[in-house]
Amino acid sequence: MSNEQTVRIMCPNLNCRRVLAVPESARGKTVRCRNCATNIRVPMPGQAGGPPAGAAAAAPAPTTA
Ligand SMILES: [Zn+2]
Repeated sequence: MSNEQTVRIMCPNLNCRRVLAVPESARGKTVRCRNCATNIRVPMPGQAGGPPAGAAAAAPAPTTA
């Protein structure tokens, strides 16, 4: 029922690299990887380093050959 957006972040631990899905509400907070227990900072939207999260999702799908 709840359609809360989730943020996908990859664990920075090179031995883990697990993709974690965290709720938007976790932005700016630190979450812990369930696989290796590394603390990961969830980036805020619009932070330097990339376009807003919505931009990529709103882009038209590329034509598949
Ligand atoms: Zn991890």
